[in-house]
Amino acid sequence: MNKINIKNLSQEDLEQALKQLGLPAYSAKQIFIWLYKKHVSDFGQMTNLSLSSRQLLAEQFEIPSLAVHQKKISRDHTTKYQFVLNDGPAVESVLIPMGRWHTLCVSSQAGCALGCKFCLTGIKGFKRNLSVSEITEQLAAVQAENRDTPISHIVFMGMGEPFANYDNTLKAIDILTSEFGYQYSHRRITVSTAGLVPQIKRFIGESKANLAVSLNALYDDTRTALMPINARYPLEKLTAVLKDYHQKRKGWVTFEYVMIKDINDGIAHAIQLAKLLKEFPFKVNLIPFNEHWGTDYKRPDEEHIRAFQEYLVSHTIACMVRTTHGEEIEAACGQLGGIKIPQEDAQ
Ligand code: SF4
Repeated sequence: MNKINIKNLSQEDLEQALKQLGLPAYSAKQIFIWLYKKHVSDFGQMTNLSLSSRQLLAEQFEIPSLAVHQKKISRDHTTKYQFVLNDGPAVESVLIPMGRWHTLCVSSQAGCALGCKFCLTGIKGFKRNLSVSEITEQLAAVQAENRDTPISHIVFMGMGEPFANYDNTLKAIDILTSEFGYQYSHRRITVSTAGLVPQIKRFIGESKANLAVSLNALYDDTRTALMPINARYPLEKLTAVLKDYHQKRKGWVTFEYVMIKDINDGIAHAIQLAKLLKEFPFKVNLIPFNEHWGTDYKRPDEEHIRAFQEYLVSHTIACMVRTTHGEEIEAACGQLGGIKIPQEDAQ
């Protein structure tokens, strides 16, 4: 009999599964504490459950974990971790120290099917969705390697489009925010999307986590050239659903704007962005493009970046230029998926 991966289950799923086994639903809370607060890897260690319950659980479920396969540390202490999944593909997470905060950027898919032209993950193609446990175990493994530095924020900005793996992303967030799980505040979790409109609609009603949108252009032709998904969900549809998000959630959305030399770094783009942002409040993160081997795109010069930012700030738009972390180890935005593993060469 194939055992069920218990870490793929939300607390609600686990309660249902326990009921079907004739066990009390409240044991789901006890099991969550053992799995996510005490990090046990064996049902035998769950000593507040009866012996017969532990035996039954061990027959039905398995407790998986993810081991770090490789890591690379940059000069600014940004660390890229690579995990190799059971069936071969590799995914990466990045731990970014920022003063007393430590942010973990997690992957939601092995590769990505959206094919954004500036993104190494997209250029390398799609392998598969990550399971719930493959998402949450990135946190468990990285935190285990850094016991003295609690990870304060989690961003779904690693490999993959989280909303293309919507159900597993939301279940992972359930575990991350559960009182009996990792107990993160929703305010400390951000999901970044390339703009999948139907999933953003669902997210408005189904999650309290923060939303970020990878915008990158203000004209449909430029955006479609950079991000083919824009042909399906053009700017008009995207901005309409974001207005709805703002009205219903009263929350700010962060726009990620990867600045690429001679593509989207001109003042005309800044003017258009300022016009858009007049309609509703958003924050903008300008991310100077991190050059990599997968494309000829270039990083804009500092003068262009400053002029773009100054234009937005002078129009009272909250806007910061994101410091590039871990560029020399290819851990910066758009650079994930670059560590080679032996299996990849054979595929
Ligand atoms: S930027 Fe995000 S959505 Fe686009 S290809 Fe890369 S991982 Fe996928």
